[in-house]
Formats: sequence, C-alpha cells, structure tokens
Amino acid sequence: MTYQPKACYKCGHVFDARIIKHGFKTSFIKIPSVSGFDTYLNLRKQRYFCKHCQSTFILQTDVVDKNCCISNNTKSAIALQAKEKISEKDIAKSHNVSHSTVSRVIDSFYAYNKPNYNYLPTHLCFDEFKSVKSAAGAMSFIFCDSETGKIVDIIEDRRLHVLKDYFLRYSKQTRFSVQTIVIDMYSPYISLIQDVFPKAKIIIDKFHIIQLFSRALNKTRIKVMNQDKKHYNKLKKYWKLILKDQTKIDYTNYTYHRCFRKLMREIDIIHYLLKLDPELKASYELYHDVRYCMKNKDFELLKKALVTKYMSVSSYMKTAINTIRKYINYVGHTLTYDYNNGVLEGINNKTKVIKRIAFGYRCFYHFKNRILITQNLATIKRA
Ligand SMILES: [Zn+2]
Repeated sequence: MTYQPKACYKCGHVFDARIIKHGFKTSFIKIPSVSGFDTYLNLRKQRYFCKHCQSTFILQTDVVDKNCCISNNTKSAIALQAKEKISEKDIAKSHNVSHSTVSRVIDSFYAYNKPNYNYLPTHLCFDEFKSVKSAAGAMSFIFCDSETGKIVDIIEDRRLHVLKDYFLRYSKQTRFSVQTIVIDMYSPYISLIQDVFPKAKIIIDKFHIIQLFSRALNKTRIKVMNQDKKHYNKLKKYWKLILKDQTKIDYTNYTYHRCFRKLMREIDIIHYLLKLDPELKASYELYHDVRYCMKNKDFELLKKALVTKYMSVSSYMKTAINTIRKYINYVGHTLTYDYNNGVLEGINNKTKVIKRIAFGYRCFYHFKNRILITQNLATIKRA
C-alpha cells in the first residue's frame, strides 16, 4: 500500500521533496473468514521519512486501525453478530479472535442510551429476571413502557431500598406523571409504588392471577391423584383437559381413550374426573370462574365467586383466594385497564436464552449491554 500523504503525520509539514519514501512495514491482519477458512491479509504499508522533524511514519488505512491486527471489517462483523442469539465465545471462534476482543469490540461499538431522569412513560410495567451470580439479591429488575414495549432501564438489584434510591433520581414531576404500573404479586413493589409513584394505579398482571389459580388447581388434582390409586392414570393423563378453556372443550366428537376403553368426548372425561372428588370439582369451577371473569372483565362476579366458593374448595385454592384478596383492589384495576406484562415476559424469555447460550455471565454490566443490544436499544457508533 502506497500513496502520497498530504503532510507529515508527525510534525504536520506539507508534503514536499524532504519527505521521502523509507521502506515498508508489513503487518499481518485478520480479516473476515472466506469460505469458512481463517483469512489474513499480508499488508505492506509504505513508510516515509520526514527530514523536517527527523522521524518516520507509516501510512494509515481504513482497513485496520493503528497498532491493531484485526481489520475494521472483522470488528463490524463482530458487533453486528452481537445482535443475534449467540454467545460471545462462539462469535470469537467464528472470527478467529479472542473472547476478550469480542467483549472489547462490543463495548466500543455500541452507545447505550442513558436514562433520562426527567422523563418516564405514562404506563409502565415492572418485572424481574434471574441475574448474574454476582448481582446482589440474585434478581435484577427490568421495567418498560407497557404501550410500546420498549425497555426503559435495567437495574442490577431488585431489592426495595435500591429501587427506591434509583427511582428517587427521577424528578418529582416525572414520577407523578406515571398513571399505571403493571406488576406481578411481589409485595415490595406495592410499597415502592406507593412511596415513589403516589399517583400511579397498580395493576396486577392478568397472567399471574390466572397462573396463581391454575397452579392451585393442579396441586389439588395431584393431591386427589395420590389418594386415589384407582384413578391415578386418568387424573395424570388428562391434566391438560382440566385446565383447558371451557369454551374450547369438545362436545361433539367421540374418540377412543385407552384408559376408559371406550369412545368418549372431552366433556365426558371432565365430568368423570370431577365426580371423583367434590373439592376438585369446586376448585375446577372456581378456576374457570376466575378465567371467565378475567376475560369478560367482570369484577363483581369475581368477588362473589371468591366468597361463595371459599368453603368448598381445596386448601391450595384457599391459599390462592387469600392471596388474591390481599390485592383485590389492584385486581380491580387489572379488569379496568388493558395493560399487561406480556411484552416483558417476551423480553425475559430472550434474556434467558442469551444467558443460557453464554453459560451465564460473570459481570452484570456485560449482561445488561448484551440484553440492550439484542433488543435493538443500543446504537452502533461506527460501522
Ligand atoms: Zn515531519
């Protein structure tokens, strides 16, 4: 590589006859692989000698940075690949560079949006995910705009005092402008919101309410199953049918079931199983009442069902009812507003995958950045 420089790189003197060619410097540069082979560029760079300042300089190129043997193309490819669900180690392997190079390139290529402490979306949702081992509290906190699904920020520690300190950094006006917050049934969030977001309405995530009851129903079924050895197989095999949406149950088609040795419809099986135990039947009815009320946004009916069914359901169901009663006002908001945690659950699933394929992260900083990159929330500084 040779060309005539405009001026001396060292002293800046304009090119003239006193700046002379002075041999070559060869460098061995890693470039993106070709047909799966590690590929190198043997680049001979022109060296000049400047008689004005008595020093030498080597011509520079876009292919590679000064004092670096990894081409800029490779670096861009690494940075782009960081958006995919692939571990840093695998990126390193495919580009024939070290793991620390990948880490360094990712850090240097992306700019992360710093949170703006004077703005928060009007509708938020809170959630947490299992974080790196070193994170204090083991769980990290994530919150996003429930309308757009965009992550606002990720905080390493989800413990109450940390979150409180964090949110108090936002101005009072900003915090007071938040109208609704979707949470799961984690009680510290409620006291946090009451302290920090006094104007916001708390919404319990719809999915978590249904999950609370479906788990209780499942435990009830297992209890019956273990007591009733004769019907063990049937109760075990048709667990899904018990949880199935009542409007989707098949009332018309007969199919052969080996357990029963005859043709049966889905509804017949459900009736058969529910006859085995009155507690199971009551729990089943309550679970489907809850689902019905959540779907049709009928708060009065829900409250009524929780009271009238209380005595007849299993102990597991009673626990669920007691839990939901504690949060009953917020459940009311769940039925009034249409916001839920769905977007965050999606993000958290992806987060889990990223962590899993990397076999865990040691440093929260890198983990967080990688989450932001895969969610397209970091911008490439140069490419
Ligand atoms: Zn010079």
